[in-house]
Amino acid sequence: MAGRLVYLDYNATTPLDIRVLSAMNPFFTQSFGNAASNHAAGIVAKTAVEKARTQVASLIGARSDEIVWTSGATEANNLAIKGIAEAAEARGRHIITQLTEHKAVLDTCKSLEKRGWTITWLKPDRTGIVSAAQVQSALRDDTVLVSIMWANNEIGTIEPIRDIARICREKNIAFHTDATQAVGKVPINVKDDFVDLLSLSAHKLYGPKGAGALYVRSGTNLHIQMDGGGHERGMRSGTLNVPGIVGLGAACAISKEELPNEAPRLAALRNRLEKGIFDQLDGVHLNGARDTRLPHCTNLSFANVDGEHLLASFDDVCVSSGSACTSAIKEPSFVLRAIDVPDELALCSVRYSLGRMTTQMDVDRAIEKTVEIVRGLRS
Ligand code: PMP
Repeated sequence: MAGRLVYLDYNATTPLDIRVLSAMNPFFTQSFGNAASNHAAGIVAKTAVEKARTQVASLIGARSDEIVWTSGATEANNLAIKGIAEAAEARGRHIITQLTEHKAVLDTCKSLEKRGWTITWLKPDRTGIVSAAQVQSALRDDTVLVSIMWANNEIGTIEPIRDIARICREKNIAFHTDATQAVGKVPINVKDDFVDLLSLSAHKLYGPKGAGALYVRSGTNLHIQMDGGGHERGMRSGTLNVPGIVGLGAACAISKEELPNEAPRLAALRNRLEKGIFDQLDGVHLNGARDTRLPHCTNLSFANVDGEHLLASFDDVCVSSGSACTSAIKEPSFVLRAIDVPDELALCSVRYSLGRMTTQMDVDRAIEKTVEIVRGLRS
């Protein structure tokens, strides 16, 4: 890919950091033991898993015994939301979330809705922010869970997590956040921020695909979603993915160390990208919040271009559209719709997300390509 393709889709997935790969390598063929076995090979695997647990916990300010391994953020979100809903059923069956969540939260809530739970779907403002006041006024006597993502995957908007979570803590209502796009990108401390459950995924922070975790605050009661051998203190059965977990741990340790330098470096590159585009093109709209957002991404709409051709023209620059393209129809992104971006602009939106391996040259190429495409489509 190097030299030819410019990859600016880090919100979709990140390459594995070479240091993560080195950490994982011994656990495929040499130290291949089952972490649940009590013999020497099992103990080597278990020791590595426990080290990784400490590394993940340390990045988000949790205790290591509050980390539950999962296959990724989709599973973590399912475990958190269904786990709380089913455990707290006797207390109430009302859940609050928002319209711009990832499908892994939206569809989990919809599935509960079909089974008799009531869901309040909060509508964020035009920048994608849902306020603590909105959450407060949606609370009911039977509310058992509030789930609001830390940062949005399409527009990067960061939610006022501490303010929302504080209200929930005061009322003894569980607060879950899907922090898949935020972990390793912005500082997170689950204790300072009153978070009870937090989902994360390795492949968004230079770790492997198929590994993730759910932080479950000590004392939180979850209904089991996966019956079996009772792994993970009974919260998630299944033989542990040792290389994946080791990779997730290493990825978290590296991100913790690099975040203070990486975030401002990527913000500067992102700002360069935006300036380059805004300086040369008219009719460009920024989707989402300008200030309260992730440092490494931007979502732009280009007026008066054919959305269908826009993305296709990017060929050697990998960016993403927020839109779900089915074979026949192109639907505007539901996130952009929820923040009242008109359909004609939502249909020509481009998400650029930068990351650890992004260079200034990549950004300059993306600016050049964008300007060329948009001018071409407008002429
Ligand atoms: N939540 C958010 C906000 C995401 O961006 C993603 C990945 N696109 C997920 C959940 C799902 O994560 P995973 O791929 O680990 O299942």
